[in-house]
Amino acid sequence: MVSEMLSVNLASFPKEVQKLILELYKQKYCNEEIRLEDEQLHLNDGIHQLISREVSALQAIWSKNKDLYFKEKCIDCDPEKLDNLVGKYGLERIKNSVNQLMLRYKNIGNQISTLNVLDEFNRGLSNILLEIFQVDKTMQPIDILDEYSSEKLRLDSNQGALLSGKINKTFYNYALCHHCYSKVKSHTIQMVTGNCYRNEKDYDRFRLPKFKMTELVFFDSDNQLAVLKEKIMALFKIMGDSIGLKYRIRIANDSFITNDVERILYQVLNKSKIELEVYTPIEDKYISICSSNYHGSYFSQKFSITREDKSYIQSMCVGFGLNRIIEILKDAGEL
Ligand SMILES: [Zn+2]
Repeated sequence: MVSEMLSVNLASFPKEVQKLILELYKQKYCNEEIRLEDEQLHLNDGIHQLISREVSALQAIWSKNKDLYFKEKCIDCDPEKLDNLVGKYGLERIKNSVNQLMLRYKNIGNQISTLNVLDEFNRGLSNILLEIFQVDKTMQPIDILDEYSSEKLRLDSNQGALLSGKINKTFYNYALCHHCYSKVKSHTIQMVTGNCYRNEKDYDRFRLPKFKMTELVFFDSDNQLAVLKEKIMALFKIMGDSIGLKYRIRIANDSFITNDVERILYQVLNKSKIELEVYTPIEDKYISICSSNYHGSYFSQKFSITREDKSYIQSMCVGFGLNRIIEILKDAGEL
């Protein structure tokens, strides 16, 4: 007997999300025939009811805050809506300083040693960040994360993390916000600058084994973080405009470091990771230069960061890849 194929409508999801949903169910039910055709998931009667229920739940997550700054059925932000955010937070006042900062380094080429350029650019960028955000503390941590945090963050199971001490299991900085979690006790915004190290198969000028980053790390309630996230997106828009190359601000995911489809799907549906990606004609590709990550209470649970009423604080960070920004500005200057 041939069982009848039924369909579940995925038309309200962007194409990228439809593909993730297909991939998730193909993995979950590897003995079943599941196809994606004309924005419909085609599957057998036996799993139809279960999957259509689950898809409605996914739909509910995706529609949350969907229309705020995204284009219709797309993971890209709508530039006009982002301009409204720039106005909402009065960030027109920083446009000039951002433009000037970018312009200065666009014309700098290879004249000065990269190290100086990175530090000087970072000073300019940090001043702008301090103008927008109420930073309580700035840090310049060493290149190695302590044993306690390395263990809590399970860096030993992260293939991209680079081991620094064989006996005591410490790791070179994978992300700078990692230095904050063991020390934070309450609502705060911290700015961290330092070196990051990545263990990768291939390197190029945009993928270095060691690079410099500045991160802002936010600890607050979900409502407050949503406001800060809007400000970050408005800043991305101003930065994108000032570079002078084609760019996009969009939902990203960690498929580069994990192949857990479920985790990636939820990350996309929740819009947890937003990146500013700039197109370089020299490489013919988009390069992510800034990335904002909403963590919810993921880190505060690991490190027991709680409010007085014992509830977990939420966290979020935004990273600015200094080497990448300088490389992109060089490309922009050459054109
Ligand atoms: Zn971070």
